[in-house]
Amino acid sequence: MGYIEPAPLKDEKNPFEAMMSRFHIASQILGLDDEVYNVLKSPAKQVIVSLPITMDDGSIRVFDGYRVIHSNILGPSKGGIRFDPGVNLDEVKALAAWMTWKCAVVDIPYGGAKGGIQCNPREMSSGEIERLMRAFTLAMIEIFGPDRDIPAPDMGTGPREMAWLMDEFSRTQGMTINSVVTGKPLVLGGSLGRTEATGRGVMVSALAAMEKLRINPYKSTCAVQGFGNVGSFAALLLAERGVKVVAVSDLSGAYFNENGIDIQAAIDFRNGNNGTMDGYSGAEKIEGNDILELEVDVLVPAATEDVINSQNAEKIRAKLIVEGANGPTSAKADTIINDKGIMVAPDILANAGGVTVSYFEWVQNRLGYKWTGERVNRRSDRIMKDAFDNVYKTSQEYDVSMRIAAYIVAIDKVAKTYKFRGGY
Ligand code: NAD
Repeated sequence: MGYIEPAPLKDEKNPFEAMMSRFHIASQILGLDDEVYNVLKSPAKQVIVSLPITMDDGSIRVFDGYRVIHSNILGPSKGGIRFDPGVNLDEVKALAAWMTWKCAVVDIPYGGAKGGIQCNPREMSSGEIERLMRAFTLAMIEIFGPDRDIPAPDMGTGPREMAWLMDEFSRTQGMTINSVVTGKPLVLGGSLGRTEATGRGVMVSALAAMEKLRINPYKSTCAVQGFGNVGSFAALLLAERGVKVVAVSDLSGAYFNENGIDIQAAIDFRNGNNGTMDGYSGAEKIEGNDILELEVDVLVPAATEDVINSQNAEKIRAKLIVEGANGPTSAKADTIINDKGIMVAPDILANAGGVTVSYFEWVQNRLGYKWTGERVNRRSDRIMKDAFDNVYKTSQEYDVSMRIAAYIVAIDKVAKTYKFRGGY
């Protein structure tokens, strides 16, 4: 079979290659046949659009937009839309495939997709961003739909952009269809619990892993890279459960306090400080990337891709890595981390709390009903814990890392479903 030898990584920082290298190993272990391997290795659909937008100064700028549907085997595809100057097709393809595996790991009936627009929202006015979001929605009118492809926020987008998307889509259909997108503001059918859902899932995964490693949360320490949506909620919820969070970081640098950081105070500081930790005085400022090498029990990378790579993996001293971000560990670093005996709760498992509650949002929209926050949390905690236990059991069964086990669970599910559905 053509896929037995793992493809050598040409570029450690190419997220699509990183995804494929894990996919490859798990497929090999599963003994996936060539037919299914070939179906799953390529995205089902890739759409590239050019969006001419009138800027506030009257000039017209053309933005590149992407939507990649990796798979719709398990159901309508699901995945966020990223606004970032670095967006490119390879990145969107990798993120779309990760969504397929993530939905399969937590057993929700969605395929995987991702979208992105190459732009810098920090340098654009609200009006410019609104026109861009509406133009993208219109360009994707044949793609998006509550039973076809359901977008959500990602880096650089949030509830505001999702409201514009939902409104633009609804206008073209002549009726309000709020289930076309998740991550909406609460008044437009957003779900309680969505904002903190990813960080909450990271906390559930961390506690489940700590139990396996016999680490007592009340005697443990943790460092969190990235103090945005995922990182700050993960830090807060872990601290509430007794974990001493000794360091957090964002683009402004890292902040270390061996006695533990008061996370609620740090979030309040960030919220009143233009969203950045710059100038935070409750901790000592250290070099940004040093946060990854601190001697802590738990490390939560919750910022961006490839931060743990072949350059620094050897220096990681945590006993457990819980991946809040997508793809924070490069494929090359996997081997080094495994050899050091560090347990990893991988991204497609640990950060799946967000898509789980997005699924609940879609379910509520379709029911025309609103769940309490308590119900949302209880159900998502159960899904996250069950998924963790399933991946852990698989890792024992096949004697593989938690990451490869998560891919095995996901690929097996999608492959079995494909076999039942069949192809041409
Ligand atoms: P965000 O924009 O709210 O926060 C990102 C944080 O990371 C910010 O504090 C930023 O300053 C910091 N950061 C960026 N690059 C950094 C670097 N090199 N070093 C240190 N800090 C850095 O984004 P988010 O929604 O919290 O997402 C973070 C990660 O989690 C991304 O990889 C995203 O794809 C992933 N993720 C998010 C969700 C979600 O529901 N928001 C769900 C699943 C996965």
